[in-house]
Amino acid sequence: QAKKEGGDRYQFYDLEINEKIKLEQKIENALYHAIKKKELYLVYQPIVEIKTNSIIGTEALIRWKHEKFESVSPLKLIEIAEQSGFIIDIGKWVIREALVQTKKWHDLGHSSMFVSVNISTIQFDQPNFVEMVKNILEETSVPPQFLELEITETNAMTMVEEKLVKMRKLKEMGIRIAIDDFGTGYSSLAYFTRFPIHTLKIDRSFVNGIFHDENAKTIITTIINMAKTINIATTAEGVETPDQLKFLQGQGCDKVQGYFISRPVKSDQLEALLKEKI
Ligand code: C2E
Ligand code: MG
Ligand code: MG
Ligand code: MG
Repeated sequence: QAKKEGGDRYQFYDLEINEKIKLEQKIENALYHAIKKKELYLVYQPIVEIKTNSIIGTEALIRWKHEKFESVSPLKLIEIAEQSGFIIDIGKWVIREALVQTKKWHDLGHSSMFVSVNISTIQFDQPNFVEMVKNILEETSVPPQFLELEITETNAMTMVEEKLVKMRKLKEMGIRIAIDDFGTGYSSLAYFTRFPIHTLKIDRSFVNGIFHDENAKTIITTIINMAKTINIATTAEGVETPDQLKFLQGQGCDKVQGYFISRPVKSDQLEALLKEKI
């Protein structure tokens, strides 16, 4: 029997190994029907440009509406989707859904909003990935410059040559690449000068440490400064306090995301935030 903590997430680590496998199988079965049953949806977290203090884009994040498995975390959901291969269909659905929504915002007058979509390694490594993205952009009539693809740092470090070829193609099409959770993968920034990258997303663990961990502070400052010298933009994730925002602004960070600005919200709530013109 899976336990819940505070009505929140399933505590996988509390389970015996065979219980864990059984639960994962149940989740996998339920997930198999999730797209067809329209149980999956996206929430959007605003991305704010520090210079203009305005929302210039969003990050799309997956959610699952399910009576039993509502509380399965997105990370676990993605992990199970990867193990089962559903990630291919789910990942494709996420890109399309995010672009359909972004097109709606463009049509409402927010004509330069971009959307940032998380891409799993397995999805990115599909031979037809670039073609697939291209087709969805055409179907949804969103110009490619409004799509950003987030690839984690660890992901970018495997199958490097193949990934480089794809990233270059994507860039030629006008699509932006962001490296997600940057700083957690122990790669050097110099290594990334080979990659056609638009943005580094500084992992929230560093932002979280700004005022009680000298190392975190130094790492952030170093990333921002080095990124500037090689013309890569920076986005800080997980900004939760005004002091953190102030610090990042002082360091010349370009964009911020985090609970201090807004949690990820449903599309209609995001529209309300856009009207407020933060
Ligand atoms: P991520 O891409 O690094 O996304 C940021 C995560 O941090 C999100 O968690 C977001 O809700 C959370 N977050 C944002 N601001 C704050 C803050 O100020 N404080 C704290 N504590 N957290 C904050 P979420 O939505 O649970 O997603 C977790 C991870 O799951 C994502 O990390 C991403 O790796 C993955 N994920 C989510 N949706 C998708 C998807 O559609 N496709 C793929 N492949 N992965 C996804
Ligand atoms: Mg992300
Ligand atoms: Mg991240
Ligand atoms: Mg993350």
